[in-house]
Amino acid sequence: MNKKFYGKVIYDLSKEGRRAYSLPQNGLGDGLKDIPAVFLRSKAPLLPEVDEPTLVRHYNNLSTNNFGVDTGFYPLGSCTMKYNPKINEELCALPQWQGLHPLQPVETVQGALLAYDALQKALCEIGGMARFTLNPYAGAHGELTGLMVIRAYHESRGDAARVKVIVPDSAHGTNPASAAVAGLKVVEVKSLPDGTIDTEALRGLLDETVAAVMMTNPNTVGIFESAIPEIAEMVHACGALLYYDGANLNPMLGIARPGDMGFDVMHINLHKTFSTPHGGGGPGSGPVGVRKGLEEFLPNPRVVPIDRDADALFGATLKVEKSGKSLGRISAWLGNFAVELRALAYILTLGRDGLMLAAPLATLNANYVKESLRDLYKLPIDRVCKHEFVFDGLADKSTGVTTLNVAKRLLDHGFHAPTIYFPLLFHESLMIEPTETESLETLDEFIEAMREIAHEASEDPDKVKNAPLETPVRRPDDTAAALTPKVTYFEL
Ligand SMILES: *Cc1c(COP(=O)(O)O)cnc(C)c1O
Repeated sequence: MNKKFYGKVIYDLSKEGRRAYSLPQNGLGDGLKDIPAVFLRSKAPLLPEVDEPTLVRHYNNLSTNNFGVDTGFYPLGSCTMKYNPKINEELCALPQWQGLHPLQPVETVQGALLAYDALQKALCEIGGMARFTLNPYAGAHGELTGLMVIRAYHESRGDAARVKVIVPDSAHGTNPASAAVAGLKVVEVKSLPDGTIDTEALRGLLDETVAAVMMTNPNTVGIFESAIPEIAEMVHACGALLYYDGANLNPMLGIARPGDMGFDVMHINLHKTFSTPHGGGGPGSGPVGVRKGLEEFLPNPRVVPIDRDADALFGATLKVEKSGKSLGRISAWLGNFAVELRALAYILTLGRDGLMLAAPLATLNANYVKESLRDLYKLPIDRVCKHEFVFDGLADKSTGVTTLNVAKRLLDHGFHAPTIYFPLLFHESLMIEPTETESLETLDEFIEAMREIAHEASEDPDKVKNAPLETPVRRPDDTAAALTPKVTYFEL
């Protein structure tokens, strides 16, 4: 980043008369006279006047002002900012895909339908489910879809009394939000001090008004919930269904399958586990899988083989159809197709062996970082973690240096901050997820920076409290930015 461009907009660089183009004179002569006066400007628009090098440098510098996984380590817990292989981008940008239109006759889009079906089948194998829809646009959208499937299932049995969804207090905020949007009542169940769900408290909440229990495993503090088989049994005994939030499937790939544990419905975030660039609200995809017996409730439209026996990954002739029992349409067409293609490219590139290596590596990396920092950061849950873990701020609380300060100081070291103040179980949560894609050198650099910040907090706490010191923007006022955004350069 060239400091000359810090904090500037293109108008700041404007010099009268500068031009970044030179077009030939138009051949219309006095053509303007044919345009009715009412459509003509009284004065020229206020446009920035810059030469081409300034223009190019301005926008290129702007593009590197933001932090991305392609510019540095991004250990954002719960969000899985793993590196996104560039081959995915090349494959999904092929003109054969880009030129498709959703209204083309199915016989002319068999390749696209095969890709949809192949990904659907791969996810079934990974999740242990009977069928997936790829139509939902994101994780939260998948949760909503999954809960609508559950509602459709209960309604199909004439069981209208099931209006509650039980959600652990450690759950991602989208869980209770999706349940509310689906028209269901949210009931919270507490976690035990070791971060796992309180099975006995859950048992006490189960009755004939419960539609579903939503669980995340490993949960949002990175701990594997080993009581799931027992929980599945008691949830099913009361007639409810068990929902799996599989937004982060990294530590599970090829190791354990939600379907085998007794989950009935699940969603996966393709943009996290299966490597699509995300963050900043970029396009996502939240496929929903269901166990046998729930397939007909999945959203329309659906891609199905004409030859019903076709099990091969690629091969069947496919059609697009609607099911009468379906909850209906949840998105336009067949979801975010380019994200689906990236995920399929990623799965096929890694293959079974590669995918099965991702989980242990993600787990090893998280434990390596955790163990290397536990003397300086407070570790509230002292167990082997899966792909992520949570510190409760610095171990030494006497300095007054908060998790926010540590996160801001990391920016000066060239790292994106971890997730902070989530989960809500601890006051100073600092949630770290290194992912499997980082080298030992990168992890060591990060550990070194975290250790340096902890020492700095004791020796020169004000420096950490005033961080970041070297970024183009220091500490924006988040609340003011949200409530009174300044969206134009000019005073209107
Ligand atoms: C990211 C995440 C979600 C929500 O996914 P979006 O695609 O952001 O809607 C839900 N649950 C968990 C555990 C997550 O990490």
